[in-house]
Amino acid sequence: MKMNNNLSIAIPFVDLNLQHQPIYNHLLQAIENILKQGDFVLGQTLSDFEAAFAAVSDTKYGIGVACGTDAIALGLQACNISSGDEVILPANTFVATLIGVLRAGAKPIFVDCDPQTALIDLNAAAKAITSKTKAIIPVHLYGQMVSPKQLLDLADTYKLLIFEDAAQAHLAEREGYRAGSVGIAAAFSFYPSKNLGGFGDGGMLVTRDPDVAEKMVRLRNYGASRKYFHTEAGTNSRLDTIQAAVLQQKLPYLPQWNRDRLNIAQQYATQLAPLAASGIIPIKNHSGEGHVYHLYVIRVCETCPIERSALQEQLTAAGIQTGIHYPIPCHLQPAFSDLGYQVGNFPHAEMLAKQILSLPMYPGLSNSQIQEITGAIAHTLATNSPSEKLLLA
Ligand SMILES: *Cc1c(COP(=O)(O)O)cnc(C)c1O
Repeated sequence: MKMNNNLSIAIPFVDLNLQHQPIYNHLLQAIENILKQGDFVLGQTLSDFEAAFAAVSDTKYGIGVACGTDAIALGLQACNISSGDEVILPANTFVATLIGVLRAGAKPIFVDCDPQTALIDLNAAAKAITSKTKAIIPVHLYGQMVSPKQLLDLADTYKLLIFEDAAQAHLAEREGYRAGSVGIAAAFSFYPSKNLGGFGDGGMLVTRDPDVAEKMVRLRNYGASRKYFHTEAGTNSRLDTIQAAVLQQKLPYLPQWNRDRLNIAQQYATQLAPLAASGIIPIKNHSGEGHVYHLYVIRVCETCPIERSALQEQLTAAGIQTGIHYPIPCHLQPAFSDLGYQVGNFPHAEMLAKQILSLPMYPGLSNSQIQEITGAIAHTLATNSPSEKLLLA
């Protein structure tokens, strides 16, 4: 194995400069316009972007907030979810989904995931429903939507609200639905590395329900229905006009950026296919071209001659940055031990946490870089296979 002693990063996990460079002057101009106008908070450009993003997500109202976590926490409250309500969510999600449920005052009920797609297992969800269950939060993880048809069936049968965590799934599609348009409301994040990202934190709730939209408008603005008249114990959480201006400039490029991601994923899939026999299995895509690949995640299965940690180390040594999304499922995070969950509660989520590895994924990642990455994985497996070890011994 050729070692790279200075550990220089040849291929980063994410490179945002590639998407900013071609539109750099437009982005600067958009920011300068806001500086000149001075409408930094709840400005016209925010309203324009809210309407535009709601429209491309096939919904009606968009309410910009400070981050995706606030979109979940305040969004659940806007849907009248509160203490005494149970909310079902997958154990293998980013911790923000859980934090949102807790901040709304509801009781989180975890369920396991499908080991092939890493998406919430809706059969397990059905079994977790009680008389107190008010809502289910499907997380469209890695950019792939949870089946809208199965979700709507489940919600209809048990009279549940669907609140989508679409933080990783801007413009994703499945079964004719867009991410954000399936349930009563949906939360998006504009964290810089998301498929649509600002120059800092940001988020949005989208909904078709005018009552939810109105309540959300109050909740993000100190609970005020008009100035200095407060009908709700709200908070201060607004998407800055400057961030909205940046996101508005980027929005027209999002479909092409998502196509680039899909194209990269297809190349990964083709080049990694021969490694299936060695236990390298990509997370399954059931949504075809509707998958927007926020992340490209492979599993390093038990049959693989090398452990996930060793593969990650050797890729790092080869200058290739990778990630793990996420290394500890929510139900095993120390901060939430009082919820009473234990190791063994969700075997698929726990197994995936040990096996998954996210490969570099961003618009602009080149064909030769993809080849370099898959080549480095193949090389690492070959030099660690049992027969090779015998030869070296
Ligand atoms: C990023 C993310 C969030 C939170 O968004 P922030 O803007 O970082 O607060 C919530 N859920 C999922 C699945 C995410 O990936």
